[in-house]
Amino acid sequence: MPQPPAQPTATPAPKPLTGPQKALRKLGLNRAIDLALHLPLRYEDETRLVKLRDVREGDVAQVEGTVKHSEVKLSGHRQLLVTLDDGTGTCLLRFFTFYPSMQKALAVGNQVRVRGEIRGGFAGLTMMHPVVKPAGGALAAALTPVYPSVAGLPQTYLRRAVQAGLTRAELSDTVPAAYLQEISLQPIWNLRKALSFLHNPMPDVSLAALEDHSHPAWQRLKAEELLAQQLSQLQSRRERARLRAPVLAVPQGYQPDLAGDSTDATAAPSPTAQPLYQRLLAALPFQLTAAQARVVAEITQDIARPVPMHRLLQGDVGAGKTVVAALAAAACIDAGWQCALMAPTEILATQHFAKLVGWLHPLGITVAWLTGSQKTRERREMLALIASGQAQLVVGTHALIQDKVQFKHLALAVIDEQHRFGVAQRLALRSKLSADTSAESAEDSGQGHRASGSAGSPGVAPSDGKAATPSEQAAGLEPHLLMMTATPIPRTLAMSYYADLDVSTIDELPPGRTPIITRVVHDARRDEVIARIGDQIAQGRQIYWVCPLIEESEALDLSNATETHAQLSAALPGVMVGLLHSRMPVPEKKAVMSLFTGGQMGVLVSTTVIEVGVDVPNASLMVIEHAERFGLSQLHQLRGRVGRGAAASACVLLYSTGDAPRLSQTARERLKAMADTNDGFEIARRDLEIRGPGEFMGARQSGDAMLRFADVAEDAHLLDWARRLAPQMLDQHPALAEQHVRRWLGGKAEFLKA
Ligand code: ADP
Ligand code: MG
Repeated sequence: MPQPPAQPTATPAPKPLTGPQKALRKLGLNRAIDLALHLPLRYEDETRLVKLRDVREGDVAQVEGTVKHSEVKLSGHRQLLVTLDDGTGTCLLRFFTFYPSMQKALAVGNQVRVRGEIRGGFAGLTMMHPVVKPAGGALAAALTPVYPSVAGLPQTYLRRAVQAGLTRAELSDTVPAAYLQEISLQPIWNLRKALSFLHNPMPDVSLAALEDHSHPAWQRLKAEELLAQQLSQLQSRRERARLRAPVLAVPQGYQPDLAGDSTDATAAPSPTAQPLYQRLLAALPFQLTAAQARVVAEITQDIARPVPMHRLLQGDVGAGKTVVAALAAAACIDAGWQCALMAPTEILATQHFAKLVGWLHPLGITVAWLTGSQKTRERREMLALIASGQAQLVVGTHALIQDKVQFKHLALAVIDEQHRFGVAQRLALRSKLSADTSAESAEDSGQGHRASGSAGSPGVAPSDGKAATPSEQAAGLEPHLLMMTATPIPRTLAMSYYADLDVSTIDELPPGRTPIITRVVHDARRDEVIARIGDQIAQGRQIYWVCPLIEESEALDLSNATETHAQLSAALPGVMVGLLHSRMPVPEKKAVMSLFTGGQMGVLVSTTVIEVGVDVPNASLMVIEHAERFGLSQLHQLRGRVGRGAAASACVLLYSTGDAPRLSQTARERLKAMADTNDGFEIARRDLEIRGPGEFMGARQSGDAMLRFADVAEDAHLLDWARRLAPQMLDQHPALAEQHVRRWLGGKAEFLKA
């Protein structure tokens, strides 16, 4: 059949993007304002010419002169060599890639203008790959900006795009002048002036003030950026306050209902006579520390309100966050809802599962379990338990957030080691409730529970509540969110990046722990360390030996661990030495882990798969090989695997310098910080100092470029100002606030709320 002719009125297919256009997208430069806010990294001075007599090595210089000599050198690396003479001296121009057109432009006798970095060396002054133009052209009137870029996006293209964006962008002032006086930023540096200036600064300006960002134009931009960040987080906090969440009240002073209200045929009489929360507290083999009791109170108060909780629970490794999560889960289950706990690795999820089952199963609670490696049949069973609401608690890995997983009525989502998850994954877990139970209101579920009184019995289930009105359906419900981390966030960073969260801190370890002694030891003394392992084993203790993850080469990584495994097996006859790495099949990993947890295995050699959360209290020595390759928070996490029981524990940081004469400065600082302190907060502070805020924040920031210009440590006064101003501005100038956030964060604002 003949095809109908293309309709002439149809909109033409959009033209495919060119390479540079794609690159702009990749940088997130979509709107005119995004381009206008894409600020230079540094500047080049093309406003003047210098004489070769006056240049020094390292200068970026622009010179005009005559080509005296030009040849293509064929021996060795093929290159074009040109000698330029400006009357005061000569300079050798060296090109490893060149085209005939360039040879022509650089023919002997031509007058040219070149620009590049001056190098010294035995050949005299040299420029590698200078930019070449004909001599005599007009000089730039302003400094030439150099922008952050990516492959496939030439500076010239980017410059033109930025200039065009700057012209088109709407740049009216959003910050009321009165507020600016507080940080003595004269209104003269309004956004438009500041941006025009920073994109095209006059040559007489101090390059230093531009490059260290102390210039008032930079101050203005940093203040604006911090204000946008605070406004957006405050907005999301206020928006959240308008959302509804299930009320998960811990029944206080609970009395069994004798009035016969719960005559429900299926209501089991005895085990649920007391709320799970109280029964769990009573069943724990230990007393909560004061800090644990305090954070539990903070959390249970939050989740008893009909507004979604967003709380970050920080507590050093071993501080006992799991039991806090378990108590929150118990409160949730008491109210007749489901709780989910998501952990970043399969090993950690397994451990949580074992621990929580150990605590909750005897109390009559069904805990389901979901991971990526599960057999189809088991998985199907678990999905059914979750969908029917029979599983009151669900523990798992990322598998929890897959589409197939349908909760009957999820009310509390706990994310362990939250920094290991991306923003999108946190959002996905939150959406699990709104997708499934949009038909109820918080009120109904609260009523439902109070009316029938016994947790978990049919009829209490919130989704069996009365039919909701359409507006209630639209309103939907959000689960409460508890995020846990063992990487405490220093105060300035928390104020800046987590202003939308409430923070609870466990600042005390359970009693009876002896501090871990940390030693930094050169790899040459490895044999002594192995001998020490023998002593520990003889005392009935267990040992971790961690080998580094070398990202570029998993193979190397593995050989490192297997070699060490072989070496230790040979050196410790009669001791079971196990090996654990990420490429092992899951059942094998589980088998190894259970031998170690069970105490039969004396030494566990592993890659960093054990980094987070693993809890074997009898392990008392941690050896970290190539400790110089690990980040500080990772070292601290790893060390936290020991010192969990009453025995004195130690951590040995083995380092080697390879071919280098000594360790790098930052590696030395990291190892020293580990030897100096066991305190996670102090470690975090040092880590921030060593790495700077951008890298420290990692996941939350990556891709979102949340703070591009401001530095929360350096610009603390601007951060303070933005924090004070944000609520005033939202109250008094809501439209300006909105405009400000949209301008600075555009489509990203939504993402930053997770
Ligand atoms: P983390 O905060 O690193 O996740 P865990 O929750 O794994 O720490 O707890 C570490 C160990 O301390 C576990 O064995 C846990 O059972 C135990 N623990 C937790 N709280 C207490 C307490 N109050 N008293 C004694 N031991 C506790
Ligand atoms: Mg933990």
